[in-house]
Amino acid sequence: MSHLFYQSRLARPELDRAEGIYMWDTSGKRYLDGSSGAMVSNIGHSNPAVLAAMRAQMEKSTFGYRLHFQTEASEALAAKTAELSPPGLSKVFFVSGGSEAVESTIKLARQYALAKGEAQRFKVISRMPSYHGATLGALAVTGYAPMSAPFDPMLMRMPKIPAPRAYLDGLDIDDVATGHHYADMLEQKIRDEGPETVLAFIVEPVGGASTGALVPPAGYMSRIREICDRYGVLLIHDEVMSGGGRTGKFWGAEHWQVVPDIICISKGFGGGYVPLGAMIAREDIVEAVLDMGGFVHGHTYAGNPLACAAGLAVLDEVERQGMIGNADRMGARLKSRLEALMQRFPFIGDVRGKGLLLAFELVSDRDSMAPLPKDLNAHARLVDLAYDRGLIIYSRRTRGGLEGDHFLVCPPMIVGEDGIDEIIEGLGAALEDFA
Ligand code: PLP
Repeated sequence: MSHLFYQSRLARPELDRAEGIYMWDTSGKRYLDGSSGAMVSNIGHSNPAVLAAMRAQMEKSTFGYRLHFQTEASEALAAKTAELSPPGLSKVFFVSGGSEAVESTIKLARQYALAKGEAQRFKVISRMPSYHGATLGALAVTGYAPMSAPFDPMLMRMPKIPAPRAYLDGLDIDDVATGHHYADMLEQKIRDEGPETVLAFIVEPVGGASTGALVPPAGYMSRIREICDRYGVLLIHDEVMSGGGRTGKFWGAEHWQVVPDIICISKGFGGGYVPLGAMIAREDIVEAVLDMGGFVHGHTYAGNPLACAAGLAVLDEVERQGMIGNADRMGARLKSRLEALMQRFPFIGDVRGKGLLLAFELVSDRDSMAPLPKDLNAHARLVDLAYDRGLIIYSRRTRGGLEGDHFLVCPPMIVGEDGIDEIIEGLGAALEDFA
């Protein structure tokens, strides 16, 4: 009997070791990590350079409390992160995960409003569906009812607008009018709420688990930026999953050349080697908050030297091995192979995503995009069938806040052509079993 518990009674094999894109359980069975865990192990498992950097840091120190010491590792990672960030976003605040990163963005935004004498601004608008984390603050801006429903009475009421689900609404994702149609819902919401009360808008540039790699339509991201500017609303990009290179650019939003006021990143930032995340903010925002007396927020493990040394080595490896270019190339290859699976299996309703942040969705009818019946339990069944064949994929039973099943196929950014072939072979066989 295990003393551990997580979300459910799901029993999984015991992990023995992992290397590159593969993982082995204690029975010796090999799995291809086709989702990089939860889109975390971006540079693959057991990267020798990262392990060496961690070992070297451990020989020196593993923890130095941030209010007692500065460390070379945290300074170096902050400098590198700022260098990779859009112009003007040069201040870095470390955390240990995605939810902490999102909480930090909300609190920084709020304190900035106070510093500017705009105490009436407190509402953070977000999208339905979206995922921004499991802690109560991050959950309040998350648009994913299965996670938030039990806590509804305890959550701040934060306004939501629909995410741009063009594929469900029958709109053309390449048409700027589509992007404006959805973006203008933000302006309407700001007006309805009272612009003077709106603090920020938070958005995943390329959607993650709750939308299944939703890509914004043409014109959407830049229109959102304009609307935020018009009403003095801060734009927060949640790049917890899309940041770090997976989409084929370091930041997902680089695909649309849009610069936010605050960004957060986690997952691939620590690459599965350490719990690590960061908030990166405009310098004037941070300075205004520090001038006011300080940023009233922080977590004990923030900026610890071991996590920062690992994070720095992860970024170095991404660069040294040209992984972002590889994510772009291999992503295009994987996407076209997934689209080919659509020809074979009429119950695949949509394939979408950017780079190696890709998803497909199952439907009962492609014309109407009606979902599969809930009792089919497709999201869990297909994952198990793939698992049997030694392929790990990630699924959620949700679709734009509606019923539906989508699956993320997001192998590490070091995947090669053989790895892509193996994923498609395993997935094709699992889909045959499922059909
Ligand atoms: N934001 C986004 C976009 C995410 O995808 C996630 C996790 O999936 C989070 C925030 C929360 O991150 P964590 O699970 O590390 O707290």
